[in-house]
Amino acid sequence: MTIAPRGLSVALARGIGALSRRLGRGGGTSAPGRVLLWLRPKAIQELASTLTRGSLVISATNGKTTTGRLIGSCVATERWRTVSNRAGANLVFGVATALLDAVADEPSPEFGLFEVDEFALPELVTRLAPRVVVLMNLFRDQLDRYGELETIAESWARMIARLPATTILVLNADDPAIAALADGNRPVVFFGVEDPSARLDALPHAADSTRCRVCASPLVYDRVTLGHMGDWHCTHCGSRRPTPDVAADRVTLLGTTGIDLEISTPQGAVTARVALPGMHNAYNATAAVAAALALGIAHEHIGPALANAEAAFGRSERVMVSGHEVVLFLAKNPAGANVTVQTVQLDPDPLHLLIALNDRTADGNDVSWIWDVDYEPLLERLGDLVITGDRAYDMGLRFVYAGLDRARMRIEPDPERALDAALAQLPAGRCLYVLPTYTAMLGLRSILVERGAANAYWHDD
Ligand SMILES: [Zn+2]
Repeated sequence: MTIAPRGLSVALARGIGALSRRLGRGGGTSAPGRVLLWLRPKAIQELASTLTRGSLVISATNGKTTTGRLIGSCVATERWRTVSNRAGANLVFGVATALLDAVADEPSPEFGLFEVDEFALPELVTRLAPRVVVLMNLFRDQLDRYGELETIAESWARMIARLPATTILVLNADDPAIAALADGNRPVVFFGVEDPSARLDALPHAADSTRCRVCASPLVYDRVTLGHMGDWHCTHCGSRRPTPDVAADRVTLLGTTGIDLEISTPQGAVTARVALPGMHNAYNATAAVAAALALGIAHEHIGPALANAEAAFGRSERVMVSGHEVVLFLAKNPAGANVTVQTVQLDPDPLHLLIALNDRTADGNDVSWIWDVDYEPLLERLGDLVITGDRAYDMGLRFVYAGLDRARMRIEPDPERALDAALAQLPAGRCLYVLPTYTAMLGLRSILVERGAANAYWHDD
C-alpha cells in the first residue's frame, strides 16, 4: 500500500473527525485516529516525536483517569502545552485521535499525557516512547476477564524489558504485582501509603494478587490499605514491599467530600486538600505527586495543583440537579465497587443511593461480579435505594440476598425514571450517591447534560 503524505493523511482524518462529531457519534474520539493509522501506520510515532518535552503514559485497572487529571493539573502549573486523550478513548485509535486533534494547534503541543487501557499499553508505549510510565494497580476486572490479570502483568514485564534505560517508571510499592515490575535496569520512583491508621481489618473478599511474585507463596500483610494493597512481605523467600520514595504519611478522610494529605518526597513534603474522597484517591494523588516529580515539575507547585484539580466525569463528580447535590461514583469491577461502597459510608447520615447496573460490552456482559462486592455494610446505613439499568433485577436480587427487605428498594430499569424517583424522595439538603457501571454512567450523565447539570463529554478534557 502506498502511504499517503502526512499532511494529506492528517487533513483527511480531521475531516472524518468533524463529520463524526456532527453525526453525534461519541464526539469523534476514535474514528479519526482509525483513518489516520490506516493512511499512515507510523503516525503515532511521528506525531509523538514532535513533542519536545516527551510524554507520560499511565495505566491501571482503577484510577487512571483521575490520576491523569491530577497530573494534568500539575503540568498546567508549568504552562507546558499539553495534548491528552479523553477519558474512555484509551486504546490506540483514541491516542492517535488526540495527537491528530492537537497537530493543528498553533503553537504545537510540547508534552503528551495519555491514560491507556491495560491491554493496549505495551503497543502504545512502543509507539509513544514515553519519558515516564506510571503503573498504579492491577485488579481483577469483571468475571468474564478472569485470569487476564496474570496475562497483563506478564505483558507489562516484557514491555518494561524493552524500554530504553532512561525511561522512568513510577510504580505502586503497595501492589505486589506492580512493585515486581521494577527490573533494576532503569530508574524507578515507588509510591505508597505509609499512614499507619490507613488499615483494613483483613483482605477484602474480592482481593487479588495475594501470592508472592517470586516464589508463589501466600503473602503476609502487616497492614492492608485497600483491596490487595498494603505493607506486604513473603515469609518464604524474603521478598517484600519496597520502601516508597513518595509516601502518603498522613491521610485524613474528609467524609465524601475529599482528603487531606501529607506526602513525603525526596524534595520535601507536599501537603494538599484534594476534593476527591476515599483511600483510593489518596493512592491516585500520591501517584500524581510521584509522576509530577519524575517529570521535573517544581516541588512547590504540586500541592496547590492537586488542590485545584477537578474530578473527571463520573469519577467522584458532583453536580447540582433540581436543587439537589448528586455525586457520581463510577464502579466498573468488584474492586472499584468495594471502594465506592466504602467511600459513601464516610457520609455519617443515612445514605440515599441510586445503583445502576448495565451489561453492555464496555461494562462486561457477565454481571455475576456483583456477588463479589461487599454491599452488606450499606444495609444498616440505608435511607433510600433505587436500582436501575439493563440488569436492575440482578442487582435487586443481590440486595435481597444481602438481607434487604424488598419493600425498602425500588427497582426501575429506565434510568431517567429511576433518577427522578431517587430525587423525588431525597430529603432537602441531602446528597444522592449514584453508583453506576460504565455505560450506565454515560447514560445517566447524558440525562444530566440534557438538564444542564453537567458538561457534554466532548467538552471534558
Ligand atoms: Zn516469596
